[in-house]
Amino acid sequence: MNRTFSSFDANNPVSGAFDGEWMGSGRVGTVVSPVTGEVIGKVAVANAEECDKVIASSHHAFQQWKLVPAPVRAEVVRRLGQALRDHKEELAQLVTLEMGKPIGESLGEVQEMIDICDFAVGLGRQVGGITFPSERAGHRLMEQWHPLGVVGVVTAFNFPVAVWAWNAALALVCGDTVIWKPSSKTPLTAIACTRIAAKVLEENGHPAAILGLVIGSGRDVGDRLISDKRVALVSYTGSVATGRYVGAKVQERFGRTILELGGNNAAIISSKADLDQAAVAVWFGAIGTAGQRCTSTRRLIVQDEIYDSFMERLMSLYNQLRIGDTRSREFMMGPLVDPAAVETMLHAVETARQQGAKVVLEPRKLPELGESYITPCVAEVTPDMGIVQEETFAPILWVMRYKTLEEAIAIQNGVPQGLSSSLFSNDMLECERFISAAGSDCGMANVNAGTSGAEIGGAFGGEKETGGGRESGSDSWKAYMRRLTSTINYSGKVELAQGIRISTEPATK
Ligand code: NAD
Repeated sequence: MNRTFSSFDANNPVSGAFDGEWMGSGRVGTVVSPVTGEVIGKVAVANAEECDKVIASSHHAFQQWKLVPAPVRAEVVRRLGQALRDHKEELAQLVTLEMGKPIGESLGEVQEMIDICDFAVGLGRQVGGITFPSERAGHRLMEQWHPLGVVGVVTAFNFPVAVWAWNAALALVCGDTVIWKPSSKTPLTAIACTRIAAKVLEENGHPAAILGLVIGSGRDVGDRLISDKRVALVSYTGSVATGRYVGAKVQERFGRTILELGGNNAAIISSKADLDQAAVAVWFGAIGTAGQRCTSTRRLIVQDEIYDSFMERLMSLYNQLRIGDTRSREFMMGPLVDPAAVETMLHAVETARQQGAKVVLEPRKLPELGESYITPCVAEVTPDMGIVQEETFAPILWVMRYKTLEEAIAIQNGVPQGLSSSLFSNDMLECERFISAAGSDCGMANVNAGTSGAEIGGAFGGEKETGGGRESGSDSWKAYMRRLTSTINYSGKVELAQGIRISTEPATK
């Protein structure tokens, strides 16, 4: 039985697949909290038949859901937002326990779910098309947006609930059904969200299969989901390496994708910046969520003449950092997601050292707190070092110097990824140049605001190896619908475009 959050315990496995009924006959996985190091739950994952059943149920539910008027669908999303408000505290506590981020950030993550529901409610009356002038008299040329189908949502561990909500709220309003494949590191939060959503759907007389769930490994369950022709759109959030595989695999069957992959985000600090403000923003960008946000600040590019004074401000913030049990509001940083992430971080720092980096803040394991705890790292590097070109998903800040803004922008753009970027400067000309076509090549470029901390009103996503996908606000909803272009002829005669004439005269010899 999967009824309440309190049914998660270390001894009784809960079911990891849902299509209106809970299932899970596959392997039983154990969930360990990075905060406490304790087992907090067990999940029986979906087997092959159960995956197939969830996809079939979702496809079946789509045939009804697509016919429900969009404003009525939006009312269901409004109620989902209300249910999330009611469960905000409880869900945030689970996010912190399962993934490790500070409770304040977890509350913010659940708030983001609520915000996207509010945004999507308004969309229920806006997902319409437009009419264009036709070149033919007595004709109308118009487009409509129709529901697309089943959306497979594959998510990463670091935003265990918000990314599902970004996709699910828009997909629901657009008339699609959703199957969620969460990270195997965060199955409990996914089960909790699915329970909340199923109740809302059922109470409003809709099949709970509209928001399905399959938990299991990427290679097994994930692969089944992305390979199935009944899944019209795969919204994939995760690393570049896996995204490269997923993108090609879905393209093979001409399915659609939204790819939200890794970033390697830089902040540029100009000599014209307010250095105190910039230091706080960079510091939070680097240590927030223990450096495990796709938008975390990973590279810092500082103008020569203020280098020393800026670094002094920044290092004094690092010295004040409190690391500990993130269930308490006392701590700004908690553990990494698991002990393997700690080893990956240390390996990256060692590689950097071999490539010539000077480590100015040495990372240190904190075994007294637990196996997943480590202090952050700051290292001076040059832009050409191989390790600086990669995303290491950890609280490491690579620091570089620059002389001119052109040089800083070239360093900022000189990596394969293109998610988020920032310039700190009070010089209007510099700011405008940074967000112009000659400036940042990322999907997001901020001025006097850090690389992380996006709001749901704007489209979220990045360029180059970040995958080009857009989610959340603006017109991102269009990716979840199919566009239908129609010509309506009310002229009473047949007329072709481009001046082509139809002759019905019999041929004369
Ligand atoms: P990951 O690539 O290891 O896993 C992401 C998801 O893909 C998981 O659910 C995993 O099970 C699944 N998966 C793995 N192999 C698969 C396959 N063959 N078929 C289908 N699914 C498969 O990523 P992670 O470690 O969980 O998350 C960190 C990464 O995610 C970082 O690179 C980060 O930048 C990125 N991320 C990007 C965004 C964004 O919006 N751009 C947001 C959050 C995280």
